[in-house]
Amino acid sequence: MSYSEWFYSHGEKHKAIMDKLTRLSVDEVITYFRFDNMVKNEPDFCPLYKENKKCHDIPELNCYLCACPNFKFRDKGFSMRGDKMLFSVCNINSKEGGEFIGDDAIHQDCSKCHIPHHESYIRKIFDRDWFEIMESVC
Ligand code: SF4
Repeated sequence: MSYSEWFYSHGEKHKAIMDKLTRLSVDEVITYFRFDNMVKNEPDFCPLYKENKKCHDIPELNCYLCACPNFKFRDKGFSMRGDKMLFSVCNINSKEGGEFIGDDAIHQDCSKCHIPHHESYIRKIFDRDWFEIMESVC
């Protein structure tokens, strides 16, 4: 599955959950997307839930903004950097981000960045439409 395919499929899963939560306030929606609740009530949202595993080891991991809106990608790549194709970047150059550099490809490394998983950040850019957030943050 390409990143684009995953992105649209994940967005549809997010929408299906949001369609059930129309009566909840913004704070209640954000609370619903906490890891502990999602594992119990939305087991198909993330493959890691089945193993009760977190993508980032933070106590209050929130899954509302997976994937991060600052993560920009192109399946065909942005440009060549030397002999390697740059496939993804962090739009805000987070100091917690890094790069995976392979033989012929460079990918954004978000494994040490917690920004999109903090509720204060989610509240700041919240929209009930996940695709809207992903497209508007640039
Ligand atoms: S480094 Fe952080 S802010 Fe940047 S794209 Fe990755 S998760 Fe998002």
